[in-house]
Amino acid sequence: FWSICLSRFQQELSAQQFNTWIKPLRVETGEHGLRVLAPNRFVQQWVRDRFLQRIESLAEELLNSSGRVELVLMDHVPAAAKDVVQESQPVSQSATKPAAISNAAKSLAQARKHAPAGSGLNPSFNFDNFVTGRANQLARAAALQVAENPGTAYNPLFIYGGVGLGKTHLLQAIGNHLKLQRPDAKIRYLHAERYVSDVVKAYENKSFDEFKQQYHSLDLLLIDDIQFFAKKNRTQEEFFYAFNSLIEAKKQIIITCDTYPKEIADVDERLRTRFSWGLTVAVEPPELEMRVAILLKKAEAARFLLHEDVAFFIAKQVRSSVRELEGALNRIIAMSNFTGRDADVNLAKEALKDLIAVRGRQVTIENIQKTVADYYKIKVAEMYSKKRSRNFARPRQIAMALARELTNHSFPEIGEAFGGRHHTTVMHACDEIEQLRQNDHILARDIAFLVQVIRD
Ligand code: ADP
Ligand code: MG
Repeated sequence: FWSICLSRFQQELSAQQFNTWIKPLRVETGEHGLRVLAPNRFVQQWVRDRFLQRIESLAEELLNSSGRVELVLMDHVPAAAKDVVQESQPVSQSATKPAAISNAAKSLAQARKHAPAGSGLNPSFNFDNFVTGRANQLARAAALQVAENPGTAYNPLFIYGGVGLGKTHLLQAIGNHLKLQRPDAKIRYLHAERYVSDVVKAYENKSFDEFKQQYHSLDLLLIDDIQFFAKKNRTQEEFFYAFNSLIEAKKQIIITCDTYPKEIADVDERLRTRFSWGLTVAVEPPELEMRVAILLKKAEAARFLLHEDVAFFIAKQVRSSVRELEGALNRIIAMSNFTGRDADVNLAKEALKDLIAVRGRQVTIENIQKTVADYYKIKVAEMYSKKRSRNFARPRQIAMALARELTNHSFPEIGEAFGGRHHTTVMHACDEIEQLRQNDHILARDIAFLVQVIRD
């Protein structure tokens, strides 16, 4: 019985949770039923609060027992179990850490402080854990190509797209990939704001030579969210020199931004022109299948058993960004872990309740009609009018499709709100817009933008 329980828990919990709370437990069967032994009070308390219910329900399921499970302290803790507990107990860790280790940590921190800025790379973002779909396959392919042939494929590579769509992830993946292939390569990842503050510091300390030397000697410069250069003239000027010097030396530059190079506000024309010298690629909001794939992959990484119908449920509710998908999944994992309940669609509904409610409450058809009309610079009245000119028909179709996507109204209700149109007209509009979103990148981007505005 217990070994089945263990394998269930192993599937349901993260490795750390499992090792900390479940693995050290022992089980006995006595006259009164099942007895679970905890190695210390700390584990006992935690298991009682979070996992006991789950153990009871497993006992019910597997042993047909309806009796309660008793949770007691072990008298004699087997040595092996003790080790496990001590190693993975986060609370006791700092108390028992030998002085030598903390001294070593201290001197390492000291060394870091005085060493030149690090690579800024975070190894947890790589190409393997980046899920690919229509929305990002071009960006990923370009990124991989540049990571394999830095300085010779496309220079600069410019990646743009909305918040939470994987730009930073890709940027980091390129750096990590190159680092594996060429450990001696000089790589630097940094957020544009960090660059701005570095320029200010160099200014204050009159250390521009050092600053230049640091940036101009790189093999790979990864600069994130370049829209933060807006209105920072001194920064833009410095970056202009760095850019030219790196490109001339055939060193690779990769830039991310929230918009297309030409549209970056308050950035010097000569920089914007240079940004599109190489290759410009977009990351777009993931479509349904990709959202499901991302959820399954994230769940697997967290060692959480995510049923496919639950993944679909989340993917239908959360459409805007990968970051929000992750947030939704984490809520479900947390709720399931803390209540010990199976993560089925009901649990997911509960966990995402406020997220769903907020949306249902705030987004109205009128709101959508007004936002879309404003965006396309037409009168709201054209949303109900019978005019068929393309200038009105396309925005109207987009508004209908968004009404379907963002509210809980039925097709006939939506038709009613659009000047009493037949429900098949609405259905047709939804199909057509869905098709267009897949083939017309500009339109897809406009719609993604509209969705964000409407939700906010
Ligand atoms: P951005 O920089 O575009 O705002 P991020 O790169 O920070 O977005 O992505 C937000 C979160 O979503 C990160 O945790 C990232 O790992 C994850 N993510 C984004 N796109 C993907 C993807 N295609 N596959 C897997 N994870 C992704
Ligand atoms: Mg980012």
